[in-house]
Amino acid sequence: MPKHTPKPFLGTTTNVNDAFPGIEEIDITIEQDPYGYYCQHQWQRVSRYTKSTLPKHVQCTNPRCQQGGIDLQSFVLSHSNGEFDISCNGHEGTPAGRRKGDPCDNHFKIKLNIERTK
Ligand SMILES: [Zn+2]
Repeated sequence: MPKHTPKPFLGTTTNVNDAFPGIEEIDITIEQDPYGYYCQHQWQRVSRYTKSTLPKHVQCTNPRCQQGGIDLQSFVLSHSNGEFDISCNGHEGTPAGRRKGDPCDNHFKIKLNIERTK
Protein backbone atom coordinates (compact mmCIF):
# COMPACT_ATOMS: atom_id res chain seq x y z
CA MET A 1 0.00 0.00 0.00
CA PRO A 2 1.35 3.47 -0.82
CA LYS A 3 2.39 5.53 2.19
CA HIS A 4 -0.16 8.32 1.68
CA THR A 5 -3.12 5.94 1.95
CA PRO A 6 -5.09 6.92 5.04
CA LYS A 7 -5.02 4.43 7.87
CA PRO A 8 -8.20 2.36 8.02
CA PHE A 9 -10.68 3.58 10.60
CA LEU A 10 -12.17 1.60 13.40
CA GLY A 11 -15.26 0.02 11.97
CA THR A 12 -13.37 -1.05 8.87
CA THR A 13 -10.57 -2.55 10.90
CA THR A 14 -10.93 -4.35 14.19
CA ASN A 15 -7.25 -3.97 14.91
CA VAL A 16 -6.70 -1.01 17.23
CA ASN A 17 -2.98 -1.17 16.56
CA ASP A 18 -3.71 -0.32 12.93
CA ALA A 19 -6.09 2.42 13.96
CA PHE A 20 -3.66 4.00 16.44
CA PRO A 21 -0.11 3.49 15.24
CA GLY A 22 2.52 4.38 17.82
CA ILE A 23 0.03 4.59 20.67
CA GLU A 24 0.42 2.13 23.51
CA GLU A 25 -2.56 3.08 25.66
CA ILE A 26 -5.36 5.61 25.63
CA ASP A 27 -7.33 6.95 28.56
CA ILE A 28 -10.06 9.30 27.45
CA THR A 29 -12.93 10.76 29.43
CA ILE A 30 -15.74 12.50 27.61
CA GLU A 31 -18.19 14.64 29.49
CA GLN A 32 -20.99 16.27 27.55
CA ASP A 33 -24.21 18.12 28.13
CA PRO A 34 -22.64 20.46 30.74
CA TYR A 35 -25.95 22.21 31.46
CA GLY A 36 -28.04 19.05 31.77
CA TYR A 37 -30.29 19.89 28.82
CA TYR A 38 -30.43 16.44 27.30
CA CYS A 39 -29.57 13.85 29.93
CA GLN A 40 -31.63 12.88 32.92
CA HIS A 41 -28.82 11.11 34.73
CA GLN A 42 -25.24 12.02 35.44
CA TRP A 43 -23.96 8.62 34.25
CA GLN A 44 -25.35 9.29 30.78
CA ARG A 45 -23.18 12.37 30.45
CA VAL A 46 -19.78 10.88 31.16
CA SER A 47 -18.03 8.10 29.32
CA ARG A 48 -14.53 6.79 29.69
CA TYR A 49 -12.65 4.59 27.27
CA THR A 50 -9.30 2.91 26.87
CA LYS A 51 -7.57 1.89 23.68
CA SER A 52 -9.36 -1.46 23.60
CA THR A 53 -12.83 -0.05 24.29
CA LEU A 54 -12.65 3.20 22.31
CA PRO A 55 -15.52 3.52 19.83
CA LYS A 56 -14.95 5.19 16.50
CA HIS A 57 -17.58 7.79 17.23
CA VAL A 58 -19.23 9.10 20.36
CA GLN A 59 -22.87 10.09 19.99
CA CYS A 60 -24.16 13.50 20.90
CA THR A 61 -26.71 13.25 23.72
CA ASN A 62 -28.94 15.90 22.16
CA PRO A 63 -31.80 13.78 20.74
CA ARG A 64 -32.45 16.35 18.01
CA CYS A 65 -28.82 16.58 16.94
CA GLN A 66 -27.99 15.52 13.39
CA GLN A 67 -24.46 14.72 12.21
CA GLY A 68 -23.07 15.63 15.61
CA GLY A 69 -20.88 13.84 18.09
CA ILE A 70 -17.14 13.43 18.01
CA ASP A 71 -15.00 11.29 15.75
CA LEU A 72 -12.89 9.83 18.51
CA GLN A 73 -10.30 8.22 16.34
CA SER A 74 -9.37 11.38 14.49
CA PHE A 75 -9.61 13.32 17.74
CA VAL A 76 -7.09 11.05 19.43
CA LEU A 77 -4.77 11.10 16.43
CA SER A 78 -4.81 14.90 16.09
CA HIS A 79 -4.53 15.96 19.74
CA SER A 80 -1.94 15.63 22.44
CA ASN A 81 -2.58 15.04 26.11
CA GLY A 82 -4.71 17.58 27.87
CA GLU A 83 -8.24 18.83 28.39
CA PHE A 84 -10.30 20.16 25.53
CA ASP A 85 -13.64 21.89 25.33
CA ILE A 86 -15.28 21.23 21.99
CA SER A 87 -18.68 22.33 20.83
CA CYS A 88 -20.75 19.84 18.90
CA ASN A 89 -20.70 20.53 15.19
CA GLY A 90 -24.10 18.95 14.66
CA HIS A 91 -27.32 20.79 13.94
CA GLU A 92 -30.96 20.40 14.86
CA GLY A 93 -32.17 19.87 11.33
CA THR A 94 -34.66 17.52 9.76
CA PRO A 95 -33.87 13.81 10.00
CA ALA A 96 -33.32 13.64 6.25
CA GLY A 97 -30.72 16.37 6.59
CA ARG A 98 -32.11 18.36 3.68
CA ARG A 99 -32.47 21.45 5.75
CA LYS A 100 -29.88 22.65 8.24
CA GLY A 101 -31.43 23.65 11.54
CA ASP A 102 -30.02 25.52 14.50
CA PRO A 103 -26.54 24.52 15.55
CA CYS A 104 -26.42 21.99 18.37
CA ASP A 105 -25.76 23.55 21.78
CA ASN A 106 -24.00 20.56 23.22
CA HIS A 107 -20.40 20.75 24.42
CA PHE A 108 -17.88 17.99 24.92
CA LYS A 109 -15.28 18.23 27.63
CA ILE A 110 -12.60 15.76 26.72
CA LYS A 111 -9.72 14.70 28.89
CA LEU A 112 -7.11 12.83 26.90
CA ASN A 113 -4.14 10.90 28.13
CA ILE A 114 -2.13 8.97 25.55
CA GLU A 115 0.80 6.77 26.28
CA ARG A 116 2.96 6.52 23.19
CA THR A 117 5.15 3.57 22.36
CA LYS A 118 8.83 4.24 22.97
ZN1 LIG B 1 -24.90 17.64 18.97
